[in-house]
Amino acid sequence: MNNKNVHILIVEDEQRIARFLQIEMEHEGFKVTTEENGGKAFELIKTENYDLILLDLMLPGMDGMTICQKVREFSQVPIIMLTARDDVEDKVNGLDIGADDYMTKPFAIQELFARVRNVLRKSQGSDNAMQGESYRVGDLVLYPHTYEVEVSGEPVQLTRREYDLLEFLMRNKRTVLTRDQILEHVWGYDYTGDTNVVDVYIRYLRAKIDDRFQRKYIYTVRGVGYAIKD
Ligand code: CA
Repeated sequence: MNNKNVHILIVEDEQRIARFLQIEMEHEGFKVTTEENGGKAFELIKTENYDLILLDLMLPGMDGMTICQKVREFSQVPIIMLTARDDVEDKVNGLDIGADDYMTKPFAIQELFARVRNVLRKSQGSDNAMQGESYRVGDLVLYPHTYEVEVSGEPVQLTRREYDLLEFLMRNKRTVLTRDQILEHVWGYDYTGDTNVVDVYIRYLRAKIDDRFQRKYIYTVRGVGYAIKD
C-alpha cells in the first residue's frame, strides 16, 4: 500500500492533538485533512472520498458517535474513534454503531499507526472483494461486499465486531483458529485487553446464529480455539 494514495480525515477539536496527529501522519506519507467542527466534518465526509477517519468523541457541532452513526448509513469508510474517556461503555457503543476501532487518549503514536494499518488492510481487502462474492458454511452465507449475513435466506443482524469475527472464521472454515489468531486478526495484534473477549463474542455469535436457527456451525476445540463448519 502506498501511503500517498491514502487520504485521512482527522476530526479533532483539540488543536494540540490535531496538529500532532497531522504532523505524524504526514511524516508517514499520508495525505491529511483536519477539521475541528463535527458538523463540518460530516459535510466533508459526505462530499469527499476519504480512506480513513480518525474521529474524536466530544466535538463542537456534532459529536463523534452521531457522526459515526450517520456516516454508516451511506459509507463503510474505516473509522477509528479517539476517546478521552477510558469508558468501556463508550467503546462498546462506538463499535456497535460501526466504528472499526477506538483509541483512548493519550495513546502511543505507534499504536495508532498499527491500528490504522490494520483497518486499512481490512478495508482494502473488502474493496478488492469481487461483487457478489460470498462465503458459505451450509445454509450460513456471508457477503463481504455488503456486510450481510443470512441463514437460509433470513438476515442476521451483527455488530461490526461480530461480523469481523464471523468473517474471519468463515474465510478459514473447517480450520481451528486459536484465541491469539482471532485476537490478532479481529481485534488487532496490539490488543492488550482481556483475551476472554473472544469467548464473549463467540457466545454472541452462537446466540444469533446457532441458537436462533437451531443449527451448529461454531465449534469449540477444547484447549485450542474455535472453528466454523457445517
Ligand atoms: Ca474533543
